Amino acid sequence: MGNSARGMKAMYEVRLSDLQPGDLVKVMCVACGHEGLVPPDKIRMKGVPLPGYTPVLDLQYVLRCQECDTKRRVLISVLWASGSREKR
Ligand SMILES: [Zn+2]
Repeated sequence: MGNSARGMKAMYEVRLSDLQPGDLVKVMCVACGHEGLVPPDKIRMKGVPLPGYTPVLDLQYVLRCQECDTKRRVLISVLWASGSREKR
């Protein structure tokens, strides 16, 4: 695959292993609008860290809103620590 620049990937291509310390997964709740930032190494499913090949977008099925506890109605994006801005 070569050394593709981080932050240039399409969201659906980004996997957990692409995230470095300092990068944050942004979780936006569709139901209440709450936004949370989760360090990738804090993401667990049933107490177990997710494998690195997990697509970041799949976190929408894992993470839930910290505010209203809604599941599966969250939008996932990545806040790259490297300074590149997310696009929307
Ligand atoms: Zn919510």
